[in-house]
Amino acid sequence: MLGLMQDWPLLMHKVLDHAAIQHPGREIISRSVEGPFHRTNYRDVRARALRVAQRLQRDGVQLGDRVATLAWNTWRHLEAWYGITGIGAIYHTVNPRLFPDQIVWILNHAGSRVLMLDLTFIPLIQQLAPKLEHIERFIILTDGAHLPETGLCNAVAYEDWLAEADGDFAWASFDERTAAGLCYTSGTTGDPKGVLYSHRSNVLHALACNQVDCLGLGVADRVMPVVPMFHANGWSLPIAAPLAGATLVLPGAKLDGASVHEIITETQVNFSAAVPTVWMMLLQHMEATGARIDTLKRVVIGGSACPAAITKTYQEKHGVRVIHAWGMTEMSPVGTTYQRKPEIGGLDPEAALALQAKQGCPPFTVEMKITNDAGQDLPWNGEVFGRLKVRGPAITRNYFRRENDAVLDADGFFDTGDVATIDAHGFMEVTDRSKDVIKSGGEWISSIALENAAVGYPGVAEAAVVAMHDPKWDERPLMILVMKPGAAAPDLAAMNGFLTDKVAKWWLPDDLVVVNEIPHTATGKILKTKLREAFKDHRPASR
Ligand code: AMP
Repeated sequence: MLGLMQDWPLLMHKVLDHAAIQHPGREIISRSVEGPFHRTNYRDVRARALRVAQRLQRDGVQLGDRVATLAWNTWRHLEAWYGITGIGAIYHTVNPRLFPDQIVWILNHAGSRVLMLDLTFIPLIQQLAPKLEHIERFIILTDGAHLPETGLCNAVAYEDWLAEADGDFAWASFDERTAAGLCYTSGTTGDPKGVLYSHRSNVLHALACNQVDCLGLGVADRVMPVVPMFHANGWSLPIAAPLAGATLVLPGAKLDGASVHEIITETQVNFSAAVPTVWMMLLQHMEATGARIDTLKRVVIGGSACPAAITKTYQEKHGVRVIHAWGMTEMSPVGTTYQRKPEIGGLDPEAALALQAKQGCPPFTVEMKITNDAGQDLPWNGEVFGRLKVRGPAITRNYFRRENDAVLDADGFFDTGDVATIDAHGFMEVTDRSKDVIKSGGEWISSIALENAAVGYPGVAEAAVVAMHDPKWDERPLMILVMKPGAAAPDLAAMNGFLTDKVAKWWLPDDLVVVNEIPHTATGKILKTKLREAFKDHRPASR
């Protein structure tokens, strides 16, 4: 027997409708790409999103079509997401930091018909346009006054294009499982893979994120996603913020320490989210200038492991609570966050920091397990490492246009590619990517644990650990360091002395190299493939 409750499909535009009805005047403040701050609200964003939907339909865009965006976080990008999805088309966020050839590959693979882009990216797209096979129209996210001569086919200023629609339009209605968004993984090997979110998965995920012990946004929050909307669904904040009726602050193109500081203080941001690099740059800015961030109360740090030193400085010096989060594009993306479970009881400050350095616990909608290579479950004792697998209603089951690939195990779990422990309280800790773990004499050494410990050494700006070949143990750790300007680099003995009480003795690196720069992926993670290639013939001096 079925229940007798209403069938109310979970659609993206219902979130925006709710925000516009319940919180019409709540502000959306952006740093525009043109320069000045811009202020609008949910009522007006909804009205303009309806015009985007109407205007796209007039251009022939239909249910299931992909509309690409190459854009910073601004109110126009937000309107575009809701306008595109409001007719059942799919926002396809493109990461401008990828190699140009990858951008071409992704746009062609997605078959996107329209490209909405910021002024910043005109030179890039002018160079790539001849190779783009499906784009029929370029919409530049600006007004007529700022539109330069682009030479792009069918190019138009967004504001002029939008002015041709009167907004007398209603959202389309369709199944909640209809595709809403497409985001390609940045993949360090092989072709990028398209993750195709649905309306239902996006709405359920935003509801899950808004649980108190996850991101927990509320109506009084002033939320700034520094994480770009082109990274992993903008960590759900463009949906979770209107769902909660929170004020949104969108930082545009300027993400350096000084600019992030300026927008936090100018607009009174109290909640923000970004990768560790952004928080490190902000700290450096504050250390150099003596500036403060008194309004900021909570920050989500994720995308790569958040070093305990960053958590400690934000919490103790600036009174900002750090929410360490883990997730991935395939998970919409939030998978776990730090939770203060009462059964853990009081912890001394060091133990509390160590717990926060773990990636944390999943909200309802995410199930986790760790297994060995044979797929057998491993115990939750905080010690045994295994392949981390997840399942839930906002987690990928197949990639776009690769529907025949077997992605899930027999129980429907997705292998995250991460290696992790889970402790008795359910706290997950990523110990490595399965590709990056160092296999020494049949045992696994966590490169991430070594890197996190090494950045605590005075003067170390960044650390990476990769495997080097060893005739006896097969692989042994090589540590690669970047020092802060003017800081003296440690030698191997000094570093190993520092690490001795932090990791197992047999984990200590066999060699240490200091470089000027460590390569990163387009999403800010250390590019281990490139480091492994660069150091593939490296042997320690002692050998
Ligand atoms: P992406 O899909 O580009 O967001 O990358 C997802 C991957 O980033 C995960 O599978 C992890 O390897 C890594 N990652 C994300 N958050 C964290 C975190 N808090 N700690 C360690 N690794 C993380």
